[in-house]
Order: sequence, then structure tokens, then C-alpha cells
Amino acid sequence: MEHHALYPRLLSPLDLGFTQLRNRTLMGSMHVGLEEEKHGIDKLAAFYQERAKGGVGLIVTGGISPNIAGWVAPFSSRMSSNKHVKQHRKITQAVHSENGKICMQLLHAGRYGYHPFAVAPSALKSPISPFKPRALTKRGIQKTLKQFANAARLAQDAQYDGVEIMGSEGYLINQFFCERTNKRTDEWGGSLENRARFAIETVKSVRAAVGPHFIIIYRLSMLDLVEGGASWSDVVYLAKAIEEAGATMINTGIGWHEARVPTIATSVPRAAFTWITKRMKAEVSLPLITTNRINMPDVAEQVLQNGDADMVSMARPFLADPDLVIKAAEGRTNEINTCIACNQACLDHVFKQQRASCLVNPRACYETELNFPRVDAPKHIAVVGAGPAGCAFAINAAAKGHDVTLFDQAGDIGGQFNIAKQIPGKEEFYETLRYFRVQLRKHGVTLKLGEHLTAASFEQTKFDDIVIATGITPRTLRIPGSDHTKVMGYLDVFANPDKVGGSVAIIGAGGIGFDVAEFLVEQESLTTQPDKWLVNWGIDKAYSEAAGLMTPAKPTPARKVYLLQRKKTKVGAGLGKTTGWIHRTTLKKNDVEFFNSVEYQKVSDDGLHIVHNGEEKVLAVDNVIVCAGQEPNNGLAEALKTRGHSVHVIGGAFKAGELDAKFAIRQGSELASVI
Ligand code: FAD
Ligand code: NAP
Ligand code: SF4
Repeated sequence: MEHHALYPRLLSPLDLGFTQLRNRTLMGSMHVGLEEEKHGIDKLAAFYQERAKGGVGLIVTGGISPNIAGWVAPFSSRMSSNKHVKQHRKITQAVHSENGKICMQLLHAGRYGYHPFAVAPSALKSPISPFKPRALTKRGIQKTLKQFANAARLAQDAQYDGVEIMGSEGYLINQFFCERTNKRTDEWGGSLENRARFAIETVKSVRAAVGPHFIIIYRLSMLDLVEGGASWSDVVYLAKAIEEAGATMINTGIGWHEARVPTIATSVPRAAFTWITKRMKAEVSLPLITTNRINMPDVAEQVLQNGDADMVSMARPFLADPDLVIKAAEGRTNEINTCIACNQACLDHVFKQQRASCLVNPRACYETELNFPRVDAPKHIAVVGAGPAGCAFAINAAAKGHDVTLFDQAGDIGGQFNIAKQIPGKEEFYETLRYFRVQLRKHGVTLKLGEHLTAASFEQTKFDDIVIATGITPRTLRIPGSDHTKVMGYLDVFANPDKVGGSVAIIGAGGIGFDVAEFLVEQESLTTQPDKWLVNWGIDKAYSEAAGLMTPAKPTPARKVYLLQRKKTKVGAGLGKTTGWIHRTTLKKNDVEFFNSVEYQKVSDDGLHIVHNGEEKVLAVDNVIVCAGQEPNNGLAEALKTRGHSVHVIGGAFKAGELDAKFAIRQGSELASVI
């Protein structure tokens, strides 16, 4: 592969002495759910093979436990017998066939194990698991160390190029190191030396088992972000000891899973945490890998040029685009499908025990199932609506060789993404719009903007198929006074933000209600201002206290906002599993008041009249903003069907309830794969 002048550091090899990595990109560990699926190993091999082919320097697998106690969830994958070795050879062979390299991550979940066999340094339940772990005995500790060494040796038999020892994110090894979770009084707890012993002994026993010519990455928690986490001097002590114990590289871990500080969500600024790796560079001499919210090659290059690290870990960006490295090397950066850090199809799925994929790339983890082979007989296809569903369909259908014309009444492509991108913290949506635009052009889709289509539009020109991707119509309010001047739809808010007064009641607390609330209370987006963002979430760059925490700054909200719903459930309960708490916390910090179990009565000059907990109330607000869900905008589809056209309906036009961009893009892509 050529070293593109744009990315001289990122694309330069990394010499580890006994082996060389072809560039400085590491695909970070991600458990994707194929590990436990029937016949999943073949799909997993195809998944990794595609990333190796795309030029990744070094891949790290999802976490694999050295024993049963270390399972993340019941029947998680394990590396403890020759049967496992045979399975894993499929993966290593697939990666090596593309000149890639791959390490197996050894992960013992400790008290995060979601099962009754969980063990930990001390019998303390974590706030995010219902299972109380058993405290390991001294013999149990020795046995666990042997099992780590055994798993590493088996990984070597399976032809892995190395292992990554998971010592961060609050898993077992991290639990031993921190006073928060280690209350032992024997030689495995208490003093710094004792708390560090388990990590050091793990590295030593793994090194002894695999010999000198095998990569050992140690993932070190450099910033615990939980009370009772390590101080900076403790982290440095451990890093030096890990280097001494025989690790080849140290990777950066940021935050425990139970930390209440966002570390990878879309509102986290790009490369917001690489300063911590830079700080460690002054302390140790082995190569360091940095991570978190690095999603494009220019961000990665900048981080390396700053001297923050020797290598850059990107995980989700390789779900979004397996060819990220090759595209960067060939100067085709604008063709990269950028990870928008939404977690909607990856982490949120894994937490629900579903197979991971990617919102912007539904082929991720479906490499053998969702494909777009060239067609022998191209069709003339019209697509009405250039939102995510229409764009995803048009791009993939055109890639197969079909002749595709994409219409939209708006002056630009993107549909509702043009609204989403305006929400503070959702700036990454611009990248998806750029990707759509470049791909539509690349695949020769004819774009017709500013044209509102009706059934009559199809009388002159004949198409073999018409795909309706006309999206949704926002639901309107049906209570007395819903035509009052105070009432606005959410689209009006974005069209005329200056018309919104100083106090607002939002009707409907779904994804859009929350986003509109953030848009209205936040003075500015902190996602583009990393230092302010860190202070806002109480992350101390000076690391004055243990775990890098300090008191968060209090923002000044731009308005008074009430967020209302009729359901009795907690407001925001339906938001994403891994991101909902961030939205709730952000709004609470901005003094937004949440009301559930609300009955709407009327809107008058006095404001919004409601019944809340059996009590009549008037919220004296300037505006009532309706975010009450949507209905499919499918009238055109019905009219065309009655005229005998071959019609397909996708995205919001197909279903508005439970619609999101993940569904819209997958449905558009799936239709393209079969048409
Ligand atoms: P749309 O995006 O609505 O596109 C439909 C297109 O059809 C429009 O461009 C419209 O102009 C065009 N059209 C309609 N009728 C005609 C006609 N007759 N002739 C020509 N053109 C026509 N989803 C997520 O998954 N994650 C998020 O974080 C997220 N955040 C959001 C934030 C906000 C503020 C909003 C409003 C939405 C958000 N969504 C999010 C939802 C997501 O944007 C939608 O689910 C998605 O856009 C639906 O895609 P679609 O292609 O079906 O429809
Ligand atoms: P939604 O999630 O379905 O929420 C609609 C809200 O309106 C609910 O809170 C509902 O609560 C209320 N509602 C429904 N019917 C009503 C009525 N007749 N009168 C008054 N209130 C009513 O829809 P959305 O917020 O419009 O979002 C649309 C889609 O975009 C969602 O499915 C979401 O997945 C996606 N999206 C996702 C994100 C994200 O961050 N992942 C962000 C934005 C949007 P009650 O019925 O309890 O009143
Ligand atoms: Fe990134 Fe969202 Fe795709 Fe996950 S689902 S890889 S966060 S774009």
C-alpha cells in the first residue's frame, strides 16, 4: 500500500522488534455477538477478513474469557481447550490471507459478569449488575493466572499474532487495582504493590507461556472516572511494572462501565482523551496506543503528529467502514463512511444480546448475508425521497448497475438528517450526509432536487420500479387551543429558532423531544470545544484527585424547558441503552423539568393546561412544542399502486412507529440487495 502524503504518520509501519505492523491503525476490541451464534465463527472470520483486506494494521478480537467465571454473560466465548483453538484458526487464517495481523483479547469480567459464577477481588456487587460476585480465594487467584496463561498459549496455537490483556473498563484486573473494588487484606490487596500484583502477575505468566515473539498488549485504565479509582501516580507505577513484566505495547482504557461520564458517545468531542496517553508517554518507553472518539484518518494523523501516542485504536469506525485505511491511503477520504458514535446498532445491540451491526453500514457483521452483486439486466428505478432510506437504497442499487434517479422536493439530500445535524452534539450527522453525497455521485445516481412528485409525475416517464422513501409527517396536537400561536411543531423550531420564547413546554419525550430540549437549552455545542466539554463533565486534565474526577461545571440554560409525556414510565426510558442516561443527565444539568403521567387539556394565552398526578396545573410558557411522534407519509405510494406501478415503500413511509435511521438505512439497503 502506498503511504499517502496526507497521512505520513498514520500509514507508516510500526516496528515491534520481532514483528512489524504495516501501519499505526488498530481495530479496537468489539464483541459483536457472532462469537456465540450458531455458525457465527464463519461469519466472524468474514467480518475480520474484510477489515484486514481494508488495510487495518492490527485487529483485536472481542473479549474472550480464560474461564467460565470470567464470562461477561452466560455462555460467552471462552479460550480454554483445543476445541476452541480449532474454531479460532478460521479467524486467524482469514486475516492472514489478507496479510493482516490479529490479537485475541483476554477478558475476565470479574464482578461485571452477568451470571451467578462471577468472581472478584472482594464480594462487592457492581451498580450495573444484579449478580454479587464471590471473592476469589488465594488458590482461586493462582488458578485464574494459570488460566490466563493457558488461554494465551492456546491463542498462540490458534495462530494469533498476540493477545491483548484487558486491564481496564472496570473488569477483573482493574478491580484488583482499585480500592473501590479491592478490600482484601492479603498480599493481593491493600498497598499499591499488592493491588498491582494481579495485573503484573497476569502479564508475567502470559509472557512465560508464549515466549518472546508474541505481541502482548496490556489495556491499561489510565483514567478510571469512578470514585475510588486510581491516582495518576498509581497508574504510572502500574504502567512501568507492566513494561517490566514483558508487555509489548500499552493500550489506553478510559472510564469504567459504571462511570457516569460519557466516554464514547457522539457528544464526546473527537479525540477528547488522547492527552492522557501523551502524559504516559513521558513515563514509559514501550509503544502506546491511544483511543476514544477517533473516527477519521485526519483526526488519527493529528493525534500521532502531536506525539500523543505511537498508534491509534479505532473500533466502531471499522464497523462503519472496513476500507477506512485503504481509502485514506488512496486519497479517497471523502468516500469514508464515518462512524457517528450513535451506539444504536453496535453497543446497544450487544447489551441486548443481539448481533451488532452499524447504523450507517448495515453490512457490518452481515458480510456473508447482505451483498450487492452486479446485475445482468439493469432496471430504470425512480426513488422518491432522498432521506437516509432513499439514499441508502439509491447508492446500493446503483452500485449493482441499476439506472437510478433520486428525487427530493427539498433543495438538498438528507431528509431529517438535516435537522438532526443541528442538535448540539450531533455534528457527526454532517459526515453521513457528505458520505451519501459522494457515493451518489460515484455510482452515477441521477439526482433531481427541488421536485415535489405526485402520481401524475409518473405519467410521462416510465420506470420499472418506483421506490417510495417519502418519510413521515409529524403528528399534530388535537386538544382545544392546538391552533394557538404559542403552539409550534418541531419542524417550525428548526425553521425559525428565533421565534421560540424563553419558556417552553415540549409535548412528547421521545428521541426528538429530547433532542429539541437539548437544542433549546444549550447555549453552545461543547462537542467542538474539548476543554470546556471535559470541565462540564467533571474530568480534570490536571488529574489532581484520584480517577481524574472533579466537580462538574454548571451550565446556564438558554431557556426554561418542561419535557412532558403521558406514559407513567420514567421520562427517557425508551432512549438508547448506552446513551439515554447522557441525554437525561444533560437536560437535568440544564434544569429541564420532566413530567410523566401527564394529561393534556388545552392551550390558552396562559400557557399549557395539564393534569399531573390528579392535579390541574398551568405551565405558563411562551411556547408549546409538539414532538408527539409521526405518521407515515405514504399517500403517493397508495396512489401509484392503484395506477398499477411496481411500488416499494421503505423507511418512515413504510412505518413511522419505532422508525429510526438504523431501520431506514437497513431497509433501503436490503431492498437494493434483492432488486
Ligand atoms: P426522511 O428522512 O423523512 O426523508 C424523506 C424525504 O422525502 C425528505 O427529504 C422529503 O423532502 C422527501 N419527500 C417527501 N415527500 C416527497 C415528495 N412527494 N416528492 C419529493 N420528495 C419528497 N434517527 C436515528 O436513528 N438516530 C438519531 O440520533 C436521530 N436523531 C434525530 C434527530 C432529529 C431532530 C430528527 C428530526 C430525527 C432524528 N432521527 C434519528 C430520525 C431519522 O432522521 C429518521 O428516522 C430518518 O431520517 C428517516 O428516514 P427516511 O428516509 O425514511 O425519511
Ligand atoms: P417517539 O420516540 O415515538 O416519541 C413520541 C413521543 O410523543 C412519546 O414520548 C409519546 O409519549 C408522545 N406521543 C405520542 N402520541 C402522542 C399524542 N397523540 N399526543 C401527545 N403525545 C404523544 O418519536 P419521536 O421522538 O418523534 O422520534 C422519532 C424517531 O426518531 C424515534 O423512533 C427515534 O428512534 C428516532 N430518534 C432517535 C434519536 C436517538 O438519539 N437515538 C433521536 C431522535 C430521534 P406518550 O405517548 O407517553 O405521551
Ligand atoms: Fe458507529 Fe453508530 Fe455504526 Fe456503532 S452503529 S459503529 S456508533 S455509526
